[in-house]
Amino acid sequence: MAYGAASPRFLDIACARQKRRRDPFGTSAPVTAKPPLDILLCAPRGFCAGVVRAIDAVEKALALHGAPVFVRHEIVHNKYVVESLKRKGAVFVAELSEVPDASRPVIFSAHGVPKSVPAEAQARQFFAIDATCPLVTKVHREAEVHHKRGRHILLVGHAGHPEVIGTMGQLPEGAITLIETLEDVARLTPPEGRDLAYVTQTTLSVDDTREIVQGLQARFPALIAPHKEDICYATTNRQEAVKRVAPLVDGLIVVGSPNSSNSQRLREVAERAGCPVSRLVLRTNEIDWSLFGDIRRLGITAGASAPEVLVEEIIDAFAERYEVTVETVSTADESVFFPLPRELREPTPNAAE
Ligand code: SF4
Repeated sequence: MAYGAASPRFLDIACARQKRRRDPFGTSAPVTAKPPLDILLCAPRGFCAGVVRAIDAVEKALALHGAPVFVRHEIVHNKYVVESLKRKGAVFVAELSEVPDASRPVIFSAHGVPKSVPAEAQARQFFAIDATCPLVTKVHREAEVHHKRGRHILLVGHAGHPEVIGTMGQLPEGAITLIETLEDVARLTPPEGRDLAYVTQTTLSVDDTREIVQGLQARFPALIAPHKEDICYATTNRQEAVKRVAPLVDGLIVVGSPNSSNSQRLREVAERAGCPVSRLVLRTNEIDWSLFGDIRRLGITAGASAPEVLVEEIIDAFAERYEVTVETVSTADESVFFPLPRELREPTPNAAE
């Protein structure tokens, strides 16, 4: 894992508290008939370093090897991103058994995969490229170390999420117990005579997870914690920005997919911070305008897998109905960068000329 300057392509608008007035008609004509609306844009928002790396991995594989490039599961949880990669030649599959040609690159998504997946790829001599976010891989390695040291592992996360499936699949069945709620903490009966350690999904609610971990620590005071927080920097920063903005606005829109864990958490964070209306929308056609009729201040953020172009679309949709001003409220600077998977950094035998 390396840290450095973020790719300029994905750099966020860092102009905190800069106001700009939008003209929905693209002219200087006065738009006095529309009611005013102040939009507070949360920053950081949108793409994180792991998502940028995963998307770049697919694009680089297409550039080096041509189409098709197979991708196991959605590379990141965003339909817009997936559809645009499909148009460039990526083919998304649910399982490796659906890949008809072992000579084509197969990319594993940013959420990570159980160990059985790379093992199957190796057995079938696939050209596999792992785009698992390095911060998810960190959690996998932590779990492995605990297991080697004879500890039973508690994974705080959501059942069925690909990241949780991937993390649980790093170790033999029974090595990890999933904890989703405080009720799970109360009814937990860990194996006798074993030390206990916990790890977490990277995209959880910081506040909910704190409560669950406190519950675990109250029951098991010797519980071993991660050296460094498992909830990633991007999740934490996006939630902090929403906490700052949510109490200041009448409504808040999270741009993101319903199957994106970090996007769902942003909506919940807004609700708990006192925002009267908070909605998760993928595109403008999902906005329920009846909910945003009387608002004067609107917050907007985007999940870690939502591209900035979709945020712009949402702003433009409001600009058609309101005279909007846009102000960015920034709570953190991000400069995390992950290099591409090794197979895409070094020349490979079947790379295109
Ligand atoms: S949300 Fe966090 S863990 Fe997930 S891809 Fe982004 S940086 Fe990695």
